[in-house]
Amino acid sequence: MKVTLKNIGKKYEGREDFTIRNIDLDIESHDFCVILGPSGCGKSTLLRMVAGLNSITEGELLFNGRLMNKVASKDRDIAMVFQSYALYPHMTVYDNMAFSLAMRKTSKKTIHDRVTEAAKVLQIEDYLYSKPSDISGGQRQRVALGRAMVRKPAVFLMDEPLSNLDAKLREHMRIELVKLHKQLETTSIYVTHDQTEAMTMATKIVLLDKGVVQQVGKPDEFYDRPNNLFVAQFIGSPTMNVIEGKFINGQFESLSGEVKFEPLDEEKNRFVDYANKNITIGIRSERFEIKDKLEKGCFTGKIEVVENLGKEKVLYVKLKDSKEIVMTMPGYLSFSEGEEKIFKFDPKAVHYFDTETGLRI
Ligand code: ADP
Ligand code: MG
Repeated sequence: MKVTLKNIGKKYEGREDFTIRNIDLDIESHDFCVILGPSGCGKSTLLRMVAGLNSITEGELLFNGRLMNKVASKDRDIAMVFQSYALYPHMTVYDNMAFSLAMRKTSKKTIHDRVTEAAKVLQIEDYLYSKPSDISGGQRQRVALGRAMVRKPAVFLMDEPLSNLDAKLREHMRIELVKLHKQLETTSIYVTHDQTEAMTMATKIVLLDKGVVQQVGKPDEFYDRPNNLFVAQFIGSPTMNVIEGKFINGQFESLSGEVKFEPLDEEKNRFVDYANKNITIGIRSERFEIKDKLEKGCFTGKIEVVENLGKEKVLYVKLKDSKEIVMTMPGYLSFSEGEEKIFKFDPKAVHYFDTETGLRI
């Protein structure tokens, strides 16, 4: 099923502003589309509009070209999985998964086939006759997914379905969901505030801020070419470093003058209009290196904190103007807190933004 949003907007009754504004989007059946954004940005609102649980204030929602705005949720051929997946405690896993099909008077044979098929995919065959209270949180979450899967919806909607799981299980379920999507090829729309989930699972990410789309694209595009400062700092962990400054005689100079470097020649023409305007540069934590002596493009800083993550070390480096830069270095290198070092970054790794508008230059 192809899901199309045309200039979709939502204004809740009694609210001044639109919660969702002018959203245009095409989601194909092979897509695992992740709606990403900070808490309160309107992700659930948008998903619930697709599900038919929220009315659509303006714009058009189309399923395979058919207008869905007024179609009741139960007639939309969707299934939804929520963060809090209430299972019926007195029913077995099997009956929980079979419930919605039984309500629709599906034959016993079809129900059996679909439940066992879903249980196999989700690896919960051994628990089909257990009660929800007798299985783990991760298994319960899989039952909730199975309950949606057995309906064989044309569109699979998920609202932060992994948020209640511990970190290890979340990691495992991420991979399971990706495999599941490849197997089922059902149009999937998945809501999360977690950029790692989006980066690892999505074929297409839609990043929202205050109900407005900031960028739509593949995970790589978000990491390598963020549209604006919001996207740049929302995607990636540690957060991208940003330094405000100006172009002076073909060089970038931070406002305090501590960080200076020369951009690549082929990039310089992008800054001709910025003679009197501030520019913010962005550099990801992994793009710094340590130098023995001060050369062109180097700066010094004091390592205040070292976080040892095993495979890498995260350095919190303070410059003289008290600006903090976060760097990740290979785990086999040693650092002492309090030591001064000389650092450099590759001009190729620099992202440029208009300080005033936040837009990528
Ligand atoms: P998210 O899922 O991204 O955290 P939501 O879609 O739940 O965000 O909420 C977006 C905004 O809409 C919030 O400011 C929230 O308070 C508001 N909101 C959500 N549901 C309603 C509602 N039923 N009536 C009025 N405002 C609502
Ligand atoms: Mg939400």
